[in-house]
Amino acid sequence: MSKVETYDAVVVGASFAGLAAASQLDGAGRVLLADREPVGVGETSACGTLLAVLEQLDAGDALEQVHPKVVINLAGRRVVFETAYPFATFDYRTLSELLASRLGEVEMAVAPFKGVEPDGTLLLGDRRVRADVVIDASGWRRVVAAGLGAPRVDRGRLSTGVETRHHHGGCVLEFWFRPPERPDGVHWAFPAGDHVREGSASYLGRAKGLREDLARFEHVDAFPPKAVHGGWFPAHLGEPTVGRAFVVGDAAGQCLPLTGEGIRPALVFGQAAGREARAVLDGTSDLDTALARYRATVERSRLGYRALERFQAWSLRPPVWVVAPLVRGCAWGPISRRLQATYWAVADPDTLEVVPGTRAVTRLPDLQCSTGPAVEERRRAIDDTEEEATGA
Ligand SMILES: Cc1cc2nc3c(=O)[nH]c(=O)nc-3n(C[C@H](O)[C@H](O)[C@H](O)COP(=O)(O)OP(=O)(O)OC[C@H]3O[C@@H](n4cnc5c(N)ncnc54)[C@H](O)[C@@H]3O)c2cc1C
Repeated sequence: MSKVETYDAVVVGASFAGLAAASQLDGAGRVLLADREPVGVGETSACGTLLAVLEQLDAGDALEQVHPKVVINLAGRRVVFETAYPFATFDYRTLSELLASRLGEVEMAVAPFKGVEPDGTLLLGDRRVRADVVIDASGWRRVVAAGLGAPRVDRGRLSTGVETRHHHGGCVLEFWFRPPERPDGVHWAFPAGDHVREGSASYLGRAKGLREDLARFEHVDAFPPKAVHGGWFPAHLGEPTVGRAFVVGDAAGQCLPLTGEGIRPALVFGQAAGREARAVLDGTSDLDTALARYRATVERSRLGYRALERFQAWSLRPPVWVVAPLVRGCAWGPISRRLQATYWAVADPDTLEVVPGTRAVTRLPDLQCSTGPAVEERRRAIDDTEEEATGA
């Protein structure tokens, strides 16, 4: 049996939530960030978020496209939401690697979480690791929390989605709510510069037939292998702490119901947990107080989560033409602005920091239909490869 290694803090999962938590712990002690895969691999998401998230994180390099409008198609009508805060699509690998590159003193390891020994020692790959502070950022399976005794994940409270890339341009970020072949779900098209990410989801977690629905939506007979990726995402806010562990992102059910927006909450609550954990490492707080403070931060948003969850459940019950007028009403100027501000506040991106105590707020250009730095970077990489191939 391998010997036990001791850290001040261990974060399991190095996607949005884990990277955000680790950013707050950097330099505060011996910190380990472990994931079963290298950083930037294993994207599940359509990578659409508020532009403000990228601005706060000084992550303009990852930007693909800005979307000042969101269109919702339902019951044969288009409803246009003029967004008070533009949405943006971004490149997953670029953002992940950028956030990871800022973690100067955090030790990173590719090591799958395998379990917890009775005394709390974590099994990470073939390593045995003990830490005062543990953060579970492992996504909807919340493997660490489960190992520490959290109840099994309730599959009835998960949605599921699949997605592919379509290599044409596009201008509008669009949803098709409860389309005829998917009355329990939604299709989407997220333009990202040189391609559009198109997907289908079931709010009720019905994975059967989703791939076929997406193929019909894409007007293709079938997809080549590996052309489609996807997964599950929670639609119910869970417990932000389990035993002595902080639980963040999808692991704590922090993905927003109805919209399925999980990146922003994972980053915001990931940082919030990281800040409280850092206070423990700095010796300015004890663990119980830190856990209670993080829990209180999340609980302040519970009403917002509950409202979205209820609306999601209600919106699937009546015929879609009954839902349509309400959605049109929500798109009307003053109401739309009020709703958007409330929605934004559930996981306020203004709280995001680049490193503890520093906010960036680099205003990114309104690129609308044109392309962002991440797309230009991809194009340059292709040009370089072609030059190499031709020996130029
Ligand atoms: C098809 C689809 C499209 C989506 N589109 C969007 C979108 O456009 N915008 C948006 O805001 N949200 C979107 N979401 C939701 C969003 O992807 C999630 O809410 C978000 O990824 C949550 O981030 P996270 O860091 O909590 O978890 P994840 O991104 O799931 O990361 C979990 C990490 O834990 C690691 N891990 C898992 N198990 C282990 C283990 N045993 N040991 C070690 N590491 C482990 C994984 O490798 C991964 O790196 C989408 C979801 C799906 C399924």
